[in-house]
Amino acid sequence: MSNQLLNLTGKKFFVTGGSRGIGAGIVKTLADLGAQVAFSYSSNEAKAQEVLKSLKGNGHFCVQMDVSNAASVESACGQVLQTWPDIDGVVNNAGITKDQLLLRMKADDFQQVIQTNLVGVFHVTKAFTKPMLKASKGCFVNISSVIGSVGNPGQSNYAASKGGLDAFTKSMALELASRGIRANCIAPGYIKSDMTDALNEAQLKSLTEKIPLGRPGEPAEIATSVAFLLSDAASYITGQTLHVNGGMYLS
Ligand code: NDP
Repeated sequence: MSNQLLNLTGKKFFVTGGSRGIGAGIVKTLADLGAQVAFSYSSNEAKAQEVLKSLKGNGHFCVQMDVSNAASVESACGQVLQTWPDIDGVVNNAGITKDQLLLRMKADDFQQVIQTNLVGVFHVTKAFTKPMLKASKGCFVNISSVIGSVGNPGQSNYAASKGGLDAFTKSMALELASRGIRANCIAPGYIKSDMTDALNEAQLKSLTEKIPLGRPGEPAEIATSVAFLLSDAASYITGQTLHVNGGMYLS
């Protein structure tokens, strides 16, 4: 097998939620590997512009999009497809948490997390599937979570959204395989980002104790796995959830 299979030069990818955290790490890594990258932000335009300016190479751009809103997704994905009708892959990364113990959780907070993390992926996937089917090429990487496989107290909404995303991705893979389109999930564990910075010290300590490798991960450590799954080196991998969490899934 040639190392050229890992080369992303000339490929075009769209990453949702690329303005911060794991998404920004994915955008930077894909650009470093020679790809052209479009990415979305929800409200943080200044951060998105910072990421855009930091990227190697030309032709990258960003769009505003709220994944929980079908009209916003249609308009933003339409812009991306107008620029790149021959897009090579999409990374569904945007996500939120609204943690609370089940008995205290408001129905709105349950619904908002499902709407963003699961229904949002449905909207974005639908927008890109038709042109990919027409071109008989494409690849999706969905960012789920180890919590979708093992659950977590205070995260019933988040666990349901991410477990649903793993299952959604398996069905996507089965529906799209005959046209050569692949779909996989990456399930991160505890990765340093604004999302996990919001946790208190006791929560972070208890999370770290559950990681066999003994430390949180960096966004770049998720990004390299995303790059692999998007590349031709992963041409025979579809319908899988790759656990990238320092062994947390086993503990
Ligand atoms: P951050 O909170 O750091 O970043 C979230 C990103 O999603 C931002 O770019 C944000 O845009 C965007 N976003 C938020 N809401 C919406 C929305 N409604 N529509 C569109 N974009 C939106 O999160 P992380 O980087 O930590 O997480 C990224 C993904 O990884 C998520 O799916 C998360 O569930 C998953 N994950 C994270 C883990 C971790 O430990 N960090 C562990 C397991 C999974 P803006 O900047 O404009 O607000």
